[in-house]
Amino acid sequence: MIHRFDYVCTIIIRLMDFKFKTITEFNDYFKDERTCYEFMEKQRWASGIACPHCGSTKEPKKVVARGKLKDIPTYRCSETQCVLPFTVRTNTIFQGSKLELRKWFQAAFELSASKKGISSVELAARIGCSRSQHG
Ligand SMILES: [Zn+2]
Repeated sequence: MIHRFDYVCTIIIRLMDFKFKTITEFNDYFKDERTCYEFMEKQRWASGIACPHCGSTKEPKKVVARGKLKDIPTYRCSETQCVLPFTVRTNTIFQGSKLELRKWFQAAFELSASKKGISSVELAARIGCSRSQHG
């Protein structure tokens, strides 16, 4: 699933209702992936976790992930017909992206902090990710 970069940033900005004045303040708050996931969870699942696959609100099982994914809250649906794993990114605009959620948040912050606006190429450079030459 491909979405325009600036569209994605707009969504994040709306989600976050930024109150940070500088990137340092921002980074102090969103200090790691887990913080970003937990933030997203509060936005998406304000009234309780719902399985993005089947919509069940039955309490999901927590999955203990390892390695790079160990800081990412991961769940498995409790419905026997479903039992699919998911995170807060599942079935959102962020799902197809390999980019860390924190990078997306930083990008959105940079965009919102820039009064003149900023090109997606410049933004990618600032948050330290390269984009496809063909994209
Ligand atoms: Zn489910």
